[in-house]
Amino acid sequence: MSETTATPAASQEHPDREADVIVVGAGPSGATAAYYMAQAGLDVLLLEKTSFPREKVCGDGLTPRAVKQLTAMGVSFDDEGWIRNRGLRIIGGGIRLELPWPELAEYPDFGLVRTRYDFDELLARQAVKAGAHLLERTNVSEPVIDERTNRIVGVRAKNSDGERVTYRAPLVVAADGNSSRLSVAMGIRKRDDRPMGVAVRTYFASPRHADDYLESWLELWDKSGGKDVLLPGYGWVFGVGDGTSNVGLGILNSTSSFQDVDYRGLLRRWTENMPEEWGFTEENQRGKIRGAALPMGFNRVPHYSRGLLLVGDAGGMVNPFNGEGIAYAMEAGHIAADVVTQALSRPDQRARERTLLAYPRILRDTYGGYYTLGRYFVKMIGNPEFMKLATSHGLPRPLLMRFTLKLLANLTEPRHGDAMDRVINGLSKITPAA
Ligand SMILES: Cc1cc2nc3c(=O)[nH]c(=O)nc-3n(C[C@H](O)[C@H](O)[C@H](O)COP(=O)(O)OP(=O)(O)OC[C@H]3O[C@@H](n4cnc5c(N)ncnc54)[C@H](O)[C@@H]3O)c2cc1C
Repeated sequence: MSETTATPAASQEHPDREADVIVVGAGPSGATAAYYMAQAGLDVLLLEKTSFPREKVCGDGLTPRAVKQLTAMGVSFDDEGWIRNRGLRIIGGGIRLELPWPELAEYPDFGLVRTRYDFDELLARQAVKAGAHLLERTNVSEPVIDERTNRIVGVRAKNSDGERVTYRAPLVVAADGNSSRLSVAMGIRKRDDRPMGVAVRTYFASPRHADDYLESWLELWDKSGGKDVLLPGYGWVFGVGDGTSNVGLGILNSTSSFQDVDYRGLLRRWTENMPEEWGFTEENQRGKIRGAALPMGFNRVPHYSRGLLLVGDAGGMVNPFNGEGIAYAMEAGHIAADVVTQALSRPDQRARERTLLAYPRILRDTYGGYYTLGRYFVKMIGNPEFMKLATSHGLPRPLLMRFTLKLLANLTEPRHGDAMDRVINGLSKITPAA
């Protein structure tokens, strides 16, 4: 993508390019934050180390929660590249269950699939349209710290011409993903007591490419050796609508074999057992098997410190119940943007700081209890006995499964919901955001 409102030449002339706010990383969280802050009239620099379009390892699945965020950013789903889905198909315990997305006032009743190859570019384009200055092939190496205040006041980066450049702003948003070098350089590290997943995926040319349900496998079986072997992890098959299916699996660190799993081999053994007519074979494979981490349940805190706000994977915001990260990255990007916009309008530093400290509080109030429940859930499903019980007794009960879908996908009506919504909202509210 070449459309940028600030050219590299401009940065050469003014090595100390200044802005109201710098966003590091133009994935879903960074693009969303940049979009809302630019819309509010702030001068926003959005720095991205890659150039669009680019591959990004993901399942490419978007639930109604993500669709809501996309709609709010003015994205339309009419052009090619989007495929809609009607719900979640769950496979496990010998059962195949289709659960339509719930009908709610708060969320649409459909999900989407679109590969991250151009999904992220599309969001970044929305941010640029709103007025953000996107600089691609700009790799941020470290924060600039003001010695007097000990706050971040900018970043150093290598720009697209390979030059070292300094960008300055009173506030910086870390949207640089799971490893978030920027947060680490500011002394904000990962917590080990939070759930973490690792997931791998590839694409297969398949007649299943136009599936109108997201498909989730609760058990992965290897039947190749003559006897059935239960493999660790959970899998998915998402139709991309372009002739291919995104097929992948994830393992949580609550599983005993988490450390020593050959993920690529595991995906092969699982897909080799799939029906032949689906075409999940090596000849039909499009692209390599690639993997990445899923940082869950707020595994990096504090989400605000000394002028730096963490959004999306940088702040470990993946939902521990279902591995969904895009919706939460976008929601956090929006929340951070609102807080930054308010803070920068305050007349003095003390009032600004008070406003900025609201950001981690809002995140805790919005997701804290739910993510704590998610952590208990992750512990339980790490136990094979629980999984056996859940698939054999839970799956055959449609009402229980509808409740489970609402809980796992975090899709409830905040007010005036049905009894299931009230139970889930109530539980999330009373569970401490530890
Ligand atoms: C295998 C797999 C499957 C998944 N499936 C799904 C799914 O189906 N649905 C779903 O909702 N979620 C899924 N997720 C989670 C989802 O991918 C993430 O939660 C989401 O991408 C987080 O968005 P983000 O913007 O916070 O971070 P990222 O998407 O990681 O974006 C970070 C951006 O920062 C840039 N960057 C990094 N360092 C620097 C630097 N130093 N300077 C400048 N730029 C930098 C990167 O290039 C990147 O563009 C999956 C994850 C994995 C690993």
